[in-house]
Amino acid sequence: MKVLKFGGTSVGTPQRMKDVSALITKEKKNVVVLSAMSGTTNALVEIADYFKKGNPEGANITINQLRNKYTAYVGELYTSGTYRQRMADFLDNEFTYLHSFSSIEFDEVAEKAILARGEIISTTMVTAYLREQGVKVHLIPALDFMRLSENGEPDQPYIRKALEGILEENAEADLYITQGFIAKNARGETDNLQRGGSDYTASLIGAALRAEEIQIWTDIDGMHNNDPRFVEGTKPVRHLNFEEAAELAYFGAKILHPTCIQPARYAGVPVRLLNTMDPTAPGTIIDNQLIPNAIKAVAAKDNITAIKIVSSRMLLATGFLHMVFEIFEKYQTSIDMVTTSEVGVSLTIDNRDRLVPILDELKKYGTVVVDDDMCIICVVGDLRWENVGYESRITDALCGIPVRMISFGGSDHNISFLVRQADKKAALQALSAHLFN
Ligand code: ASP
Ligand code: MG
Repeated sequence: MKVLKFGGTSVGTPQRMKDVSALITKEKKNVVVLSAMSGTTNALVEIADYFKKGNPEGANITINQLRNKYTAYVGELYTSGTYRQRMADFLDNEFTYLHSFSSIEFDEVAEKAILARGEIISTTMVTAYLREQGVKVHLIPALDFMRLSENGEPDQPYIRKALEGILEENAEADLYITQGFIAKNARGETDNLQRGGSDYTASLIGAALRAEEIQIWTDIDGMHNNDPRFVEGTKPVRHLNFEEAAELAYFGAKILHPTCIQPARYAGVPVRLLNTMDPTAPGTIIDNQLIPNAIKAVAAKDNITAIKIVSSRMLLATGFLHMVFEIFEKYQTSIDMVTTSEVGVSLTIDNRDRLVPILDELKKYGTVVVDDDMCIICVVGDLRWENVGYESRITDALCGIPVRMISFGGSDHNISFLVRQADKKAALQALSAHLFN
């Protein structure tokens, strides 16, 4: 049994839904997790926002736009009058429900209920399409098994028990479909696993059912050489272990959501990244195996801002870093790379929204220098410190390029460099030539 997850663009049009349907019926007994059609969750966020702002008219206009889009899909997806009518009625119900929030007191519970409709609609549409094609498919409502505990984390024992029960009761089905992203919280209200959470759903289901494999299908083969985040001219990355994948997640969160990794990793279920546009390609497999001494991948992330705080007060003092980090925490800005010396610290951020107040406060503690338009280059592989020669070989490759920061030793799988964005291409090519050829 495998778990297959398809993201929003993979079910983004009726044609794509048909393509996905062809893919998921190749094998029997698998569980398929679907996202909302692309753009839908964003539209629902907008709708909820209008309601929250007390502008039901704005919400209703957006709901009608969405309704028109979906209504047009019915004729494209279904051939029989019965199915067309059934699905037109279903959509009518859905959109009437969305409009109904005009007349209630709007709160966070209502907002979550609205956000959940995208996945409910997409899965119902694909299930109906398959049924019309004669496939024995069972739609499992995610709200029947995906439960969060008091602390907001998935309640894994509950999820396993509930899912096993549902599968047992519906053993005659050849295929199971369920919604990604949505969940019920401990109070029994509709909730979700945060934006992009469908990968997480797939990982949780795969772990709960001890699946043979969790497949994450996307439109782009993220670990491929034609993805700008990865090195040009190198072979696609075919294998990563979970830790290496976690390091790369920051660079390609669109490919594999970081939270997705944990449940699969603990359950020892391999995750395979596959490309909907090239379904026969082997993809990238992520599992618990460490290939000793292998350098696996080089990734880059642009639009990085480096901040250096130098202070003689840092020398021999305690609590200096704490004060610095606290400022970033206060402004909800996460820090990515950090390097320190005895009298200063450099760090990077990728979200500049609160840069001005952050700098303002940092200046109380030292001299502050900012470098914009920087790029993090990260090399991932077996970089355990006992291995000899790897850091120097990697650093050597960058001998012709000005390097602003180097970070090594944070984990066994990563060494990162901060360079100018303008030097990114040269840095990636140099690393690729040095490490892979
Ligand atoms: N539909 C949700 C979102 O857009 C969940 C997902 O696609 O993973 O965030
Ligand atoms: Mg998505």
